[in-house]
Amino acid sequence: MTQVSGGFAELDLLPSIVAAVHATGYEEPSPIQAQAIPVILAGHDMIGQAQTGTGKTAAFALPILCRIDPDRKEPQALVLAPTRELALQVATAFETYAAQMPGVRVVAIYGGAPMGPQLKAIRQGAQIIVATPGRLCDHLRRDEHLLSTVHHLVLDEADEMLKLGFMEDLEVIFNAMPESRQTVLFSATLPASIRAIAERHLHEPKHIRIAAKTQTVARIDQAHLMIHADQKIPAVLRLLEVEDFDALIAFVRTKQATLDLTSALEAKGYKVAALNGDIAQNQRERVIESLKDGRLDIVVATDVAARGLDVPRITHVLNVDMPYDPESYVHRIGRTGRAGREGRALLLVTPRERRMLQVIERVTNQKVAEVRLPTAQQVLEARIRKLTASLQPLLEGSEASHGELLDRLLTDLGCEPRQLAAALLAKLTQGQTLDLEQLERETPLVPSAPRERAPRSGEGREPRERRAPPPLAEGRVRCRTALGARDGIAARNLLGAILNEGGLAREAIGRIQIRETFSLIELPEEGLDRLLGRLKDTRVAGKALKLRRYRED
Ligand code: AMP
Repeated sequence: MTQVSGGFAELDLLPSIVAAVHATGYEEPSPIQAQAIPVILAGHDMIGQAQTGTGKTAAFALPILCRIDPDRKEPQALVLAPTRELALQVATAFETYAAQMPGVRVVAIYGGAPMGPQLKAIRQGAQIIVATPGRLCDHLRRDEHLLSTVHHLVLDEADEMLKLGFMEDLEVIFNAMPESRQTVLFSATLPASIRAIAERHLHEPKHIRIAAKTQTVARIDQAHLMIHADQKIPAVLRLLEVEDFDALIAFVRTKQATLDLTSALEAKGYKVAALNGDIAQNQRERVIESLKDGRLDIVVATDVAARGLDVPRITHVLNVDMPYDPESYVHRIGRTGRAGREGRALLLVTPRERRMLQVIERVTNQKVAEVRLPTAQQVLEARIRKLTASLQPLLEGSEASHGELLDRLLTDLGCEPRQLAAALLAKLTQGQTLDLEQLERETPLVPSAPRERAPRSGEGREPRERRAPPPLAEGRVRCRTALGARDGIAARNLLGAILNEGGLAREAIGRIQIRETFSLIELPEEGLDRLLGRLKDTRVAGKALKLRRYRED
């Protein structure tokens, strides 16, 4: 009854891994997975050009897990990631996919946490190490043989690692590993520096790239919203209140997500159903028929389950989870704007997925404008508009049909018409407040994800003359280090050190300004003392960082 089986099962992965992947709710391999898994399983070196959101983590994690010998209690695979945040994410993904492989252990190695327990986890037999380069080098300085049994190396987000100044660390790590290893490199871009690494350290690599053809999507009004990953459901609930849709299809990535969103929408009274690969064919047809004839207004679907779905009533496509590639974005949003009608497509973007948005814009040759989440005030206005629209057609004729009842109620209740009308409204809008304060309490404003991002290399390298620092964003403070351009410091060196030793998320670090004799860095005020404590002994380019809060005057 499963609509799409095959998929992962056809990729020659171990049955225990296929089972774990299905348990995660993935229905079929993403394009990068379908291409990369056979290449990695065959033992080739590989260069994969893919960004976050394409499913690249599973593309390397699944085949590498197949090559791990659970009985050998020593490091066998190493994944390098630019930040602690990504290292933890990758380690968690490995654990998920290895859920049915007893004896397989994963350890994450990153700065800002004590080294002892990390080393202990390796010595206790973890087969998979996921590490940031800086901290791994610290370990290598203590034990140069740490990686001597590792036969699979993955560089994840290689371009980001170079931007963060990890080039030298990478060289140290390459040299600490057996030459006969398999090396897989993933990078969103392939600048000359990455190609040079591949040239030196990869052996006849196969190139994998998801071809991006330009596609046109006229007539569809597109917009995106920046959202934190854990706030998608409240954001969707708010959006739907103000969007004027007839029928809507919401795209998510997993079966579980179809169920979660469907029940959240059901609880708000929407006529909604889930479509995923577990839905039997006859049930699927019923859902589509219901969407066509208006018994349903919303369908929450995975890409696979929505294949071939053609319902002219669909006015909106809501991309709750990012599609894997621009083609599938174009495919998804093509569900609206059918038969010459106007359509609207909305895309939720988490901070880590910004780059995928840029790729989509490039391939579709269109800007996908940013819109803000509706405020409580806008939600309230929308509710009142809908109420007004629903009452309008009843004004005529209702007095004839209900006038007598009205007189009777006024007498029985002994109240004024205005009092009675208010009571009727209260009953009518039960569960949907029309009071702004209450609305704000009920649906706390979901803040949009911050627009500012960490500087990329090249940015943040300000002209070095003295000038007033720019205004600070809320919740940020400026910190100062006596290291500057004359010490050979670039923004990426500071960024790399603070991310990894400080254990901050990339979004938490604001603008970095490098001056001749010092540098300024914007950091979150919350937890600043603890952060400065963690960075107490950090060295950058061989010199003590000594970061201090900078007093603005
Ligand atoms: P990544 O590009 O590796 O950061 O993956 C992005 C997201 O896609 C993660 O949340 C994964 O859990 C999810 N994902 C990866 N592969 C699949 C798949 N085949 N089906 C559904 N979701 C997936």
